[in-house]
Amino acid sequence: MTILVTGGAGYIGSHAAVELLKSGYNIVIMDNLSNSNFESINRIRELTSKEFPFYKCDLLDRDELVTIFKNHDIEAVLHFAGLKAVGESVEIPLKYYHNNITGTINLCEIMAKHDVKKLVFSSSATVYGNPDRVPIDESFPVSATNPYGRTKLMVEEILRDLQVSDPTWKIALLRYFNPIGAHKSGRIGENPNGIPNNLMPYITQVAIGKREKLSVFGNDYETHDGTGVRDFIHVIDLVKGHLKALQYLDSNEGVETFNLGTGTGYSVLDLINTFSLVNKKEIPYQFMERRPGDISICYANPTKADKVLGWRAEKDLKEMCKDSWKWQTDNPNGYDKTTY
Ligand code: NAD
Ligand code: UDP
Repeated sequence: MTILVTGGAGYIGSHAAVELLKSGYNIVIMDNLSNSNFESINRIRELTSKEFPFYKCDLLDRDELVTIFKNHDIEAVLHFAGLKAVGESVEIPLKYYHNNITGTINLCEIMAKHDVKKLVFSSSATVYGNPDRVPIDESFPVSATNPYGRTKLMVEEILRDLQVSDPTWKIALLRYFNPIGAHKSGRIGENPNGIPNNLMPYITQVAIGKREKLSVFGNDYETHDGTGVRDFIHVIDLVKGHLKALQYLDSNEGVETFNLGTGTGYSVLDLINTFSLVNKKEIPYQFMERRPGDISICYANPTKADKVLGWRAEKDLKEMCKDSWKWQTDNPNGYDKTTY
């Protein structure tokens, strides 16, 4: 059984690749390396002592995609490939729509042609927009506040339409909350290009001295300490949810949506304080204005994934902070600039 991992050189895809290989799956990775580095592929091989084919290939290149499906007996696809920077998506929306939506349509058309109809899609809690209350379950109304979020919402809808048109498709839409952390070994982790947009990579870069201080966006939210609250989830827990989803799809047709979160919300200050405590590193920070588009509180009700998939997150915030810090300290400059 061979699983195609799109975007497998990226942060979450590389961790998923390791878990798949460790669990005995054969994999093929395709990635255009637009937001990743070939070194992550070397590290996946090193961590698992396993070989697998890698294609430096773009979802927008249909011929190359066809080649992958011709060359390998693909049974299912874990579809991580996509652009994910919210701010950039506001500046260059067409690039985001083209990459994330056309890319997914290409993938699905070519899958269908090769009779591969099992798909796990990386969606996001951003599809809940600004929810009325928490915890958020899968039945909450969906909306988007930026082009990135809209690509996730549109792809979810496209996949639902696809499944209606051909009920033999088996699709899991996994709505991730806030993945952080890294593989225990410190060999793979999140490797942002330039100034990090997300909180944890910013914190680790401050801790290692690459950035002077963290800007905390807003301390006047209606939360226990005034800073935003999120559901931080260890990337290893997150990718284990994908393996459970794959197993579920073996015996279930249809489209099913699952929240992948811990069910607990922590504030920005909670994260800073836990990071400082477990890693014995002060994080200088200053309060700034709220970041436009940010919501106050977001955390999951993950009961459905527990009941239906038998999955729940196990790692706590301390472990997430330790593992993110090990990755940063072992790789102060991320992956070396290996060219492919
Ligand atoms: P990432 O940028 O590290 O990984 C995505 C990978 O996809 C990159 O390696 C990139 O080079 C590749 N890629 C992008 N466009 C491609 C294309 N057209 N063809 C081939 N490869 C392409 O991001 P990540 O954090 O690992 O996220 C993986 C998925 O999960 C994305 O779809 C993202 O939107 C989604 N997601 C991420 C988060 C998060 O906080 N990290 C939260 C919710 C959802
Ligand atoms: N945040 C912050 N400073 C930063 C980056 C993020 O205060 O440099 C806050 C942000 O306002 C939000 C939380 O951290 O409340 C999580 O932001 P992130 O961008 O990591 O994820 P999001 O939930 O926005 O997708």
